[in-house]
Amino acid sequence: MSARVGLIERFRERLPFGPDDPVVSMGEGSTPLVEARALSERVGARVWLKLEGLNPTGSFKDRGMCCAVSAAVREGSEAVICASTGNTAASAAAYAARAGLRGAVIVPEGKIATGKLAQALVHGARVVVLHGNFDDALRLVRELVEHHPISLVNSVNDYRLEGQKTAAFELVENLGGDLDGLCIPVGNAGNVTAYWKGFQELDRSPRLFGFQAEGAAPLVLGAPVAQPETVASAIRIGNPARWEEAMAAFTASRGEVRAVSDAEILDAYAFLAQREGVFCEPASAASVAGLLKYGAGGCERIACVLTGHGLKDPQTALDRAGGVIPCEPDLAALERAVLG
Ligand SMILES: *Cc1c(COP(=O)(O)O)cnc(C)c1O
Repeated sequence: MSARVGLIERFRERLPFGPDDPVVSMGEGSTPLVEARALSERVGARVWLKLEGLNPTGSFKDRGMCCAVSAAVREGSEAVICASTGNTAASAAAYAARAGLRGAVIVPEGKIATGKLAQALVHGARVVVLHGNFDDALRLVRELVEHHPISLVNSVNDYRLEGQKTAAFELVENLGGDLDGLCIPVGNAGNVTAYWKGFQELDRSPRLFGFQAEGAAPLVLGAPVAQPETVASAIRIGNPARWEEAMAAFTASRGEVRAVSDAEILDAYAFLAQREGVFCEPASAASVAGLLKYGAGGCERIACVLTGHGLKDPQTALDRAGGVIPCEPDLAALERAVLG
């Protein structure tokens, strides 16, 4: 079997990289698209799950980071920096390590899932915990890079969107022209913007259904949210950087951006784990929560983007799960424990 090819090699003719450009890759992309039978039955449409948690660092951010870090190397940068709710930090740290660049990640205090923090640290990035929220962090790093030769690898970096649009290419490859709708969680709104770009490049226009958490739903409210709050920490963002482009994509695709509550997100999270065998992180489950809440909107074939792996945030899983069953080491006790 040949080695898994990364997305720059795979889609080079549609990406801004020439044959001699440096490529920093870990075989990102080519993620599974699995049919979701229990979910399909509940919503009365055929539903597939795009498992973006199976990227190298466990989230779709690797698609964009592969391109952003490759471009940073081409430009001669020595360091990359990002503001992050967690997954961008984990991905930037990993790709920076691989490229031999220094990495710095700025995360909001107390709001980053354990797995993501561990990743950023283990890859050797400088992890700065800001006494402020994600929006403060992004504003500050944008100012900082104006004064220093450091590449900013947030989704304000166009290479991020270039890499992330390849997920749309894969959906078209897998489902052909028969995709009617895409359900996707929305935070900084880079990913939905990237999907739309990818679909447009292939002359496809599925309806885009974006979902924000109720406590962090600026696009739904039509105004920034000063203190965003939600269990879905990856989308705890009050002032999305790609606001205008994302809204234009929802309108052009005859889609919609709507809100789901934390309780609805966690119900969808448990449903996916217990009925589909798929463990995603809470933010990812917002796509399925929205589909369950608002229905298929007349679409017959729908893909839900599960943006990150459930192991990113073990604490949320443990807080919600049932407890373990203690057992004495004898057969009768084991029978009671297993069958009782
Ligand atoms: C970053 C992220 C999102 C949101 O993507 P945006 O491009 O910020 O809208 C959703 N889910 C997960 C797991 C993420 O890491």
